Amino acid sequence: MTAQPIGVEVSCNGPSGGDDCPDSAAVSARFTSRTARQVRADGREDGWTTRRAPGRLLDLCPNCRTRAPEEPTR
Ligand SMILES: [Zn+2]
Repeated sequence: MTAQPIGVEVSCNGPSGGDDCPDSAAVSARFTSRTARQVRADGREDGWTTRRAPGRLLDLCPNCRTRAPEEPTR
């Protein structure tokens, strides 16, 4: 099999988890990143982060991370 893996995009879930990200941002996966977990790891280098929410994790782009109303690290 020489099929090329399709890049996995991680969409931003917005600061509250219910809003669409105004930028519709997504992590641009590196060539070797094939799984969402790997893509998230790539995203962290670009400022992406995850926030724990009831029942799931939210993926936040750098913009939403800084716009988040509740910033626990401060
Ligand atoms: Zn965002």
